[in-house]
Amino acid sequence: MDFTELTIASAGKLLVEKKLSVSELVNACLERISKLEPKLHAFILVAEDKAREQAEMAQKLIDRGEADSPLLGIPMGHKDIYCTRGVETTAASNILKGYVPPYSATTVEKLEKAGAVSLGKLNCDAFAHGSSTENSDFGPTHNPYDITRVPGGSSGGSAVAVAASEVFFSTGTDTGSSIRLPAAFTNTVGLKPTYGRVSRYGIMAMASSLDSPGPITKTVEDCAYVLSAMAGHDPRDATSSKRPVPDYASFLGQDIKGWKVGVLKEFFSQGLDPAVEQVTRKAIAELSSLGAKIEEVSLPSLEYALAVYYIITPSEISSNLARYDGIKYGFSVEKEESSAARDLLEVYERSRGLGFGAEAKRRIMIGTYALSSGYYDAYYKKALKVRELIRRDYVSAFEKYDLLVGPVSPTPPFKLGEKADDPLQMYLSDIYMTPINLAGIPAISVPCGFVAGLPAGLQIMGPHFAEEKILQAAYAYEQATQFYKIRPKL
Ligand code: GLN
Repeated sequence: MDFTELTIASAGKLLVEKKLSVSELVNACLERISKLEPKLHAFILVAEDKAREQAEMAQKLIDRGEADSPLLGIPMGHKDIYCTRGVETTAASNILKGYVPPYSATTVEKLEKAGAVSLGKLNCDAFAHGSSTENSDFGPTHNPYDITRVPGGSSGGSAVAVAASEVFFSTGTDTGSSIRLPAAFTNTVGLKPTYGRVSRYGIMAMASSLDSPGPITKTVEDCAYVLSAMAGHDPRDATSSKRPVPDYASFLGQDIKGWKVGVLKEFFSQGLDPAVEQVTRKAIAELSSLGAKIEEVSLPSLEYALAVYYIITPSEISSNLARYDGIKYGFSVEKEESSAARDLLEVYERSRGLGFGAEAKRRIMIGTYALSSGYYDAYYKKALKVRELIRRDYVSAFEKYDLLVGPVSPTPPFKLGEKADDPLQMYLSDIYMTPINLAGIPAISVPCGFVAGLPAGLQIMGPHFAEEKILQAAYAYEQATQFYKIRPKL
């Protein structure tokens, strides 16, 4: 039996029943990683020794009969923008090469406390800027369903490691698409929680008012377990919510009969691939046969969401990336004898010039422009106002509907290199996802079929802090369709 193909739920059961040991499970994953990585490149760093240490600790708890979390002994991986104490964390950017954080992100600590075993750090677009993982300074990740195609981004390594059964679950972040898009492109489940549901502490900031850390898993049940472990208030993140965390798994298996589900008209606009539209419509019909009442709904402000996102996000990025100055973290020209700088300003300029990739520089420039005096009111302030309209549109829609649905991506996974030189085309991949981040609501991507052998995801959106409703509906749909069982042939 190949243990790596199991889910968290089924592997956890074998561990507790002592039919499988944690080190057997970890070894099976490590073997799979060494076999598949030359093809996929989901990992930036495999932390074998640390994994074996954590595996031993988890096994001790199981042996003492102290197993109290479904994640105990389960192999995971972290997107490389999650700080991990003592383990290099680069954000997939040259500017952080060699940076070893002295502390871990709150979410990393929580998952380790639950007994999950970290196998290493996963590839992403540098600083999470991107939709394909091609912006990683360490080379792209490949889609396991067709290695000539992208896995989506920015959490591409996180999605691929799960899709290829290298780990059982992974962490990602979603600022405008980065959990849902790679989940949709790899036939995995990706949940972007409500803003504030999961702590951002210790995760490198992209756009602080939008960043939402969350899980990528094989199934909806697994997603419920990981979200329960990640969520909750953190005094070190002032925007994290004090609301109690529900036991998400307890909602699974209940029906959705009579639920009102709105189909977002604006998500079926021009630019949607007809074959993607077809699988999405079929998925919505399935929700209807599960008893949901389906209706079309229009939120006119959504038309402006992508433009608003691409003003607010670079503005926050230009500010957040200011801290990488060649002094405090990672790469510095100062450390390179041959290129020692004349003065402090030159250290800043040359370290940033060499350390940041093209996309980070593009965003720093756009953001600085949008925030500069004279343009602030015309761009940034106006974008904030429209953002509020988008938020209100969603809130009033949820007075009438339990959930909203639509596609995740307008197209199937595209070819590596296809959009790499055309930032605008790349930005358009996010068109159905950015409004969710602007509104701060939760949304999931759940596998909904294939287009010419390539996976697609159904997006289910819910009101603020209603992750349990999303999971309940996603589970009912997943159980009825079972697309998650179609694993890549590797
Ligand atoms: N693709 C989007 C961007 O490039 C979103 C990235 C993200 O969610 N981290 O900004």
